[in-house]
Amino acid sequence: MAYTYDDQNIFAKILRGEIPNQTVLETEHTLAFRDIYPQAPVHVLVIPKGPYVCYDHFAQAASEAEIVDFTRAIGQVCAQEGLEGPGFRLISNAGEAGVQEVPHLHVHILSGRPLGRMLQKA
Ligand code: AMP
Repeated sequence: MAYTYDDQNIFAKILRGEIPNQTVLETEHTLAFRDIYPQAPVHVLVIPKGPYVCYDHFAQAASEAEIVDFTRAIGQVCAQEGLEGPGFRLISNAGEAGVQEVPHLHVHILSGRPLGRMLQKA
């Protein structure tokens, strides 16, 4: 399947500076900012600056420089937020089954409280 990127999504607007965000980290290819509706005391979203819809799109189409930068940025946010001790969860929703709301790749970094089991029965 070929993904089509919608540049009117809210994270594209954040990247263009049209909507404010609470930046945690910015690198050449990546932006990390606090989720506007945090579901845990630590809830950071990490997004690539490039036009990728979801994780598999990014993993298949992004350059090695973008992939390295994005992965390192996740590590840096975890370090900045002091998550190595308490632990954390990464989530990246995709498409309908994943219940993805914003069609621009984002990895949620969640921590600061016990997060329960990974999935709940529907
Ligand atoms: P997902 O359901 O995985 O697509 O998650 C989208 C996330 O984006 C949700 O956790 C929202 O709370 C978050 N979100 C939506 N708009 C904004 C915004 N303007 N700034 C920060 N986070 C946002």
